[in-house]
Amino acid sequence: MTFADLGLAPELLRAVLDEGYTKPTPIQAQAIPLVISGKDIMGGAQTGTGKTAAFTLPILQRILPFASSSPSPAKHPVRALILAPTRELAMQVYESVKTYSKHTPIRAMCAFGGVDIRPQIAELKKGVEILVATPGRLLDHVENKSVSFNSVQALVLDEADRMLDMGFVPDVTRILNMLPAQRQSLLFSATFSEEIKRLADTMLKSPILIEVARRNQVSDTITHRVHPVSEYGKRGLLTKLLKSGEIRQCIVFCRTKQGCSRLTRELQRAGIKADAIHGDKSQLERIKALEAFKGGETDALIATDVAARGLDVDDLPYVINYELPHTPEDYVHRIGRTGRAGKSGNAISLVSAHEVGYLVDIEKLIKRPIEQVEVAGFEPEPEYEYPPGNKKKRAAPPAKAPVASRPERSERSDRHERPERSDRRPARRNPMIAADGFDFSKPYEETTPRGEVPDSPNAPAKADPHKPKRVVAALLGGIGRKH
Ligand code: AMP
Repeated sequence: MTFADLGLAPELLRAVLDEGYTKPTPIQAQAIPLVISGKDIMGGAQTGTGKTAAFTLPILQRILPFASSSPSPAKHPVRALILAPTRELAMQVYESVKTYSKHTPIRAMCAFGGVDIRPQIAELKKGVEILVATPGRLLDHVENKSVSFNSVQALVLDEADRMLDMGFVPDVTRILNMLPAQRQSLLFSATFSEEIKRLADTMLKSPILIEVARRNQVSDTITHRVHPVSEYGKRGLLTKLLKSGEIRQCIVFCRTKQGCSRLTRELQRAGIKADAIHGDKSQLERIKALEAFKGGETDALIATDVAARGLDVDDLPYVINYELPHTPEDYVHRIGRTGRAGKSGNAISLVSAHEVGYLVDIEKLIKRPIEQVEVAGFEPEPEYEYPPGNKKKRAAPPAKAPVASRPERSERSDRHERPERSDRRPARRNPMIAADGFDFSKPYEETTPRGEVPDSPNAPAKADPHKPKRVVAALLGGIGRKH
């Protein structure tokens, strides 16, 4: 099948050819004709499957009859609204829209928080047919009366599961209620929970379900590997891996912003070209870090789940989980950065004793066991037990200080740090807080609803319901003291 077989207009075919795409990906082959025919879609597809073009191309096709070269703003009302959970994803979708629409007079713009709203207002005033936005900033524009939804004929909710995780559903619902009832709606999500289905019920009319990767499944082109390693040995092992020559470029995932910054500093000190990307970074810093990484100036991009969402880096062969996510779906999202569009990829996870429970959850979700490879000199804690409840006693515990007694005084202030969660909208009227939750004035303070534990190995672990009791004791020094 070719793109021409899908019934796309010549202007769009030219743009696709310019990109060097020879044939549609499975989701494109399925979605494009359906969207062109006006159907609502519920799309189960991970990032990397070509889903952006799968909704952007047919939406452009449907808008094309209204396209106008007139400079008059009245000729360029918002006809399609694409909602994305993070600024990075919004920007990437916007770039795709620009790419695929470049041979048409259709105008697109991107609106996200954390930056001055005034240039966005000015651009909206000039008229734009396709608006890509994060929910919080879009609502700012609604309050400002800088956007009108009267002519919206298509709505896309991209990465709906992430919207949900980040607490955006009330914002999305408010936006849905403002849109014309007569419209086409498309919802894309890598995973499908009951909540996503409920959201789909409220926004879609007789949707057609398209799934390219099975639910919560990861691409078959990715190999998975776990290195069991003590919490204390993780940094050394990561440095060794990054210096081994096997890994040229990779994204390394941490759970918290502070953990992310700390690891970046440590890697830099070890001579590794590393940079951090997380929610405490300004928008400009995040763009710069991403550009430097894409340009090959940095080798390791240290990221939190929120910041890395939707990152599209071509040919990324490695993703490293420095810490396992506490939600198995996040593993699927994380490793979606590699093995894209049919390419091969590698997902490496450094797993310490207290993370085995999360590993088991991940294996259950992806329905396969992950190979475990111990690296000499970087053994896990003696308490490391896989599968849990089937402990093989190790000959001798590593001759290291117990985790709980490690000094790192300078880092103690982050004992209560939280996993990075969201671009959620905070209270209004504080000019230092962007609509999508980015707070310029102070460190992250949001409480986490799931009882997540901080990333520090010194931190109190009692809040985490998934953590095995025995290992909690080890983290608190109970078992460690025995040795
Ligand atoms: P997405 O899933 O939309 O994030 O796309 C992942 C990557 O696949 C992007 O870098 C796209 O440029 C690329 N891509 C999208 N469609 C195709 C195609 N038909 N052939 C080759 N690459 C594609």
